[in-house]
Amino acid sequence: MAVNLDNYLRLKNELGPAVTLVAVSKFKPAADIKRLYDEGHRDFGENYVQELVEKQATLPADIHWHFIGHLQSNKVKFIAPFVHLIQGVDSGKLLREINKQGVKCNRVIPVLLQIYIASEETKFGLNDAELDELLTEISSNPDQWKGVCITGLMGMASFSENPGLVKKEFLHLKSLYDKYSILSGEGINMRSLSMGMSNDYTLAVSCGSNMVRVGSLLFGAR
Ligand SMILES: *Cc1c(COP(=O)(O)O)cnc(C)c1O
Repeated sequence: MAVNLDNYLRLKNELGPAVTLVAVSKFKPAADIKRLYDEGHRDFGENYVQELVEKQATLPADIHWHFIGHLQSNKVKFIAPFVHLIQGVDSGKLLREINKQGVKCNRVIPVLLQIYIASEETKFGLNDAELDELLTEISSNPDQWKGVCITGLMGMASFSENPGLVKKEFLHLKSLYDKYSILSGEGINMRSLSMGMSNDYTLAVSCGSNMVRVGSLLFGAR
């Protein structure tokens, strides 16, 4: 059995109802997803458009699919009709395309803006100034943004053995989340702070995360 049910039940219990557990199922077979689905789990995260589209077609329709990977603008249309939450929106260009596809599908697609919090060069995300610029633009022109709603922020901390550094990065993201939580209105409704993975979710939750993305702890190593 590839799925670690003991870890799943322990994690659910530890996180409680206030923290959304997104089970990251990338590279894992549909049968593994179905195993957790049968336990009552509904939130799953995928990183690749084609893989997500294939799994969505074969698995139950009431699954909440989170797209957590790096999304290319030209692929938004494939997931726009059904995606529950696009985490990791890291450019105005991508956000505009999601908005366009949302309007086309007659949907308001919820998204999280990805913020660059790590000290590693390889990770994606907006910096603080770009975040401010984008949110200002949306809150001042809500009529132009009817296909999308910013429902929170997402970030990935440095992959580091230094808990002090990781904590500092999480707290920085939490402070941005708090700062913009007052910006509620059409197009913006901050309610999700997505931070924490298998190796750092405890620290993330202690820093204010209310959404964790956990893969290997549930499904084994990839
Ligand atoms: C793969 C992935 C995860 C899950 O990572 P684990 O270490 O397996 O828990 C979480 N977030 C993102 C963005 C990912 O790509």
